[in-house]
Amino acid sequence: MNFKNYHQKKRFGQHWLVNNLVLEKIKEVAELEEKDFILEIGPGRGALTSKLLDSKINKLHAIELDKDLIDLLNKKFKNDKKFSLQQGDILSTNLNSINKKITKVIANIPYNITGPILDMFIGRLGMVSENNYQKIVFLMQKDVVDRILSREGNANAGALSVRMQLMCNIRRICDVSPSSFNPPPRVFSSLVVFEPLRPELRLDIKLEKYIDKLLRLSFNSRRKMIRNTLNSILSEDEIKQLSESSEICFNLRPQDLSIKKWIKLAEACIKITNKK
Ligand code: SAH
Repeated sequence: MNFKNYHQKKRFGQHWLVNNLVLEKIKEVAELEEKDFILEIGPGRGALTSKLLDSKINKLHAIELDKDLIDLLNKKFKNDKKFSLQQGDILSTNLNSINKKITKVIANIPYNITGPILDMFIGRLGMVSENNYQKIVFLMQKDVVDRILSREGNANAGALSVRMQLMCNIRRICDVSPSSFNPPPRVFSSLVVFEPLRPELRLDIKLEKYIDKLLRLSFNSRRKMIRNTLNSILSEDEIKQLSESSEICFNLRPQDLSIKKWIKLAEACIKITNKK
């Protein structure tokens, strides 16, 4: 088999990036350096892989699910010592042996597993990450990026935006139209750079966990006012005390709370429940 008679598989979210300007842009925003150890998710036919390998990096390790692509990729990059390839599902790949070495994660990700990929690489509130990623560069679905970057007051604001913004600095580089891919996906894409906050810049683990709990509760019923959501975890008396002591307006709905207010609310709840 060669790349020409290979049939693309829709179920693997295969949309080859064919726009050279976008490929160049990904390489540019990755700011590659000699010490970089890159992890690429889903190299596909290797378009992005060869761009990245064509620079002074230390290593690029790629993980591709599609068995039919493995020989083709190994053949294509056999002369490049920086390259290594592993067949498997990224979501069940154990990265323990290389996780600490990886400096950047770069990918045109399969859109059908966006959520789990974000959980795996950006992490979760209340969990210390074992890795040391400086940058995560993803080409991903634009509507997910719109949600991630939403601020309070926007209909898109949700648990996802608060979580992501508490865990990393996020920059949208550009939007990418379906015509940049073959076959074109049905949706627009965006190129995004995530810079995970170093552990010392993250909030206290307990506080993060509490915020996560509040987010889950409140956004499960986003039409409810915060006051009513809190009913399930605090007594009426505690809510009353809280509304007197904190500056949070309890009549707001969750999508109207800023990140700062989520932090304040969680801090106040922790304080009041500790008093018990
Ligand atoms: N990087 C290539 C291909 C992107 S398409 C390009 O830009 O052209 C997404 C790629 O991810 C496909 O090659 C697909 O086979 C692969 N893929 C899909 N699900 C995967 C998974 N769970 N783990 C690893 N790779 C996966």
